[in-house]
Formats: sequence, C-alpha cells, structure tokens
Amino acid sequence: MSEKIDELFSKCVKCGRCKSVCPTYSIIQTEWGVARGRIAMAQAIHEGKIKASDTLQEHIGKCLMCMACEEICTSQTPVVEIIKWTRGKIEEEIGLPFKERIILRLLKEPSFLEKLIKMGAISSPFIGKSQTLYRGIVLRIPPFKGYLFPLSFSSHQFRGKVFGEKKKESIGLFLGCLLEFLYPDVIEKVIKILTNLGYQVVIPDEQTCCGHPHLATGDKDAAQKLARKNKDAFEKIKIDKILTACATCTSHIKNFYNLSTPVVDFAELIIKEAHMLKSSDAKLEPFTYHEPCHLKRAQGIKEIPEVLNHLFPELYKEMPDYDRCCGFGGIAVIEYPEISSKIGSEKAENIKQSNAKIVVTCCPACMLQIENALFATKVKAKTIHLAELFLCS
Ligand code: SF4
Ligand code: SF4
Repeated sequence: MSEKIDELFSKCVKCGRCKSVCPTYSIIQTEWGVARGRIAMAQAIHEGKIKASDTLQEHIGKCLMCMACEEICTSQTPVVEIIKWTRGKIEEEIGLPFKERIILRLLKEPSFLEKLIKMGAISSPFIGKSQTLYRGIVLRIPPFKGYLFPLSFSSHQFRGKVFGEKKKESIGLFLGCLLEFLYPDVIEKVIKILTNLGYQVVIPDEQTCCGHPHLATGDKDAAQKLARKNKDAFEKIKIDKILTACATCTSHIKNFYNLSTPVVDFAELIIKEAHMLKSSDAKLEPFTYHEPCHLKRAQGIKEIPEVLNHLFPELYKEMPDYDRCCGFGGIAVIEYPEISSKIGSEKAENIKQSNAKIVVTCCPACMLQIENALFATKVKAKTIHLAELFLCS
C-alpha cells in the first residue's frame, strides 16, 4: 500500500488545472480547497511531515469527491483514491467527527433506520412544518433545523418480494438507503417500469447499505463487511443482473464489489429501452436535468441528456453546468453545510436560468440536496427522479 500510494501522489504535476473546475475551490479560494493542495497535505501526512488534526480533517473532508478534477487532469491523478486513503489515515489517528460516527452507525442498521424514519413520519406535525411546493417537511429540530426532509408515511414493503414475470431478464434490485427510506415512491416507479418492460424484479431481504459512505469517510473495514453482506444476499438468488436506481450505490457496487453478476444503473436501462418509453404525465412541464457525478464521472454514463432531448424536444431545457456537482458530497453536507449550501445555491441559480419547472436526476442524494437548494433560494421548481418521468407504453 505504501508504495502504491507514493505512485499516486507522484502523478500530480502541480499544474493547477483542477482549480478551474473544483466546486469547493470556487468558494474556499485557497490551496487547501482544491485537489493540488489536498494531495500535498496527503503526501505530507504520509511522509510524517504533518500529523492528523481537526484542521486537516476539515480540509480533506470538504472534498466532495465529485471527480471534476480527475476529468480535467491530464496526468490522470486519482484524486478520489488519494482522498479516501487520507481520510482513512486521519480516521486511524484521531477518529471520525461525532456526527459522521452516528450517521455511519445508523447506515449499518437498516431495520433501525427504517423504524427511526417511520417514527419521524408519525411525529412529523411536531418536528416539522409541511409546505406545498417542495418535497418534504421543514424540520424544526436541531441539528437539522430548517432542513427540508422527505419523511414518508409509506407502508411500502419491497424486501423479500418478487414482482412481474420474466419475459426478458430477471433483475435483482438493490434498494439503497435513501431511496428505500426517503423516496419509496421512486422505488415503486422503478419496479413498475421494469415489470412493464418485461423484466422480473427480485428484491433480496438481507440487503443493507452499499457501504459507500463508510469507504468515502475512510472506514474500509466497515465498507468491506457491508459489501460481503450484500454479496451474500444477491448470490443466493437466481438473477441475470443487479440494478440500482441510485447512481452513488451503482458506482460503488461496480467499482468496489467485484461481482460476477453484471451491475447496471437504472439510467443505463433507460438508455437501452428509450424507444419503449413515454412520459408519465401528459401535462409534463418544462424540465431540466442534473447529471450526478456518480453517473457521468464514476460510471462514464453520459447519454441521458441526449435521450431526454430526443424524447422531449419541446420540454427538455439544458441548464448551465448541468454536470457540475450539486454540493451534497456525502458526509460533507452534514459536517460542512456552509460549503454544501453555497454550491447548492449555484445549482439553483442554474436551474432558474433554464426556466424549467422540474429538475430530473437519478441519484436520491442529489434530489435531497437540490430540493433543499431550491427551497432555500425560493426557486419555484420541484425535483424528481428519472423513473418518475416515465411510464412504459
Ligand atoms: S491534480 Fe491534476 S490537474 Fe490538479 S494540479 Fe495535480 S496534475 Fe494538475
Ligand atoms: S473531487 Fe471535486 S471537490 Fe474534491 S478536489 Fe476534486 S474537484 Fe474539488
């Protein structure tokens, strides 16, 4: 590992090209807020020149892992790999910040998380204020006071069930924590689209968090344990493919799990089946599209804007910087909300410029972040998942 990480550091030739695309640099405006500076800090900690500290943890933690720097870097520096290594190193020396520890612990326990969300939904009149335009209630309780949160009363039960007949292939559906607990309506739409298209959908009961948040914050052991649990759950069933409708989960499963069963993103299936799809609502309003970093840069899937433009030439409005990070950044949204919300406001401004009334995306984390950004900036548009745009003919 030691030699490997040395090789990774040496790829950075310190040209500074990454400064032109890094969303955090545009706000922080110092070397500590961009890939070049973060790599220098990582190298210094590796060589024992500096020690892990809260300040260092903050500089490294503010990276959103959006990969925009990797996309522009002519030296092919694996910035995200270096950031993950550095977070792991800092975690080993001083541990994780308190809020991160709590969130990561919760993500290991889906049944507890489900109970917590249900309790939240039942008590939503006391803990939040409902409003009409945006998805969710505005929380009144610290530490999330003022945050828009989609608490669902849904009694959907997907786990352990099989939907539809196998006319084409059998698909194992990986639910993903955010979709399962915050956006069950999206899962319902995904199942409907897949079954209408002739796929059978099998949902293993024992699946859990994909482990991406754990790996991203440096806890490789926890990420490996969660991956093992999910692999066992999906290896037990007879399926042709594994699919998720969360771009972050898909990219993590593709890149970290090493499965023999092919893994596909819901967006890939939409691209493949585009000729079979139509709008879910005849009164669909003009919409724009936000490209998740974990779809375009982490998985190399770039065709969705083209598909949308082809299917909805009158309604699709491309926003400026449609593929720039929304600012969620995993744990960054909780630990460093000031950075996250500033980047979110830039996204809301771009949405406003497109004149769209709907924002389509295919990652629930982006949905949550963008909906909050629209709410905070009072831009009148709502956020939906790609699955909510379609029904099958
Ligand atoms: S990460 Fe890449 S783009 Fe940024 S300074 Fe290093 S070599 Fe240049
Ligand atoms: S991954 Fe994104 S936030 Fe992190 S250094 Fe690169 S461009 Fe900046």
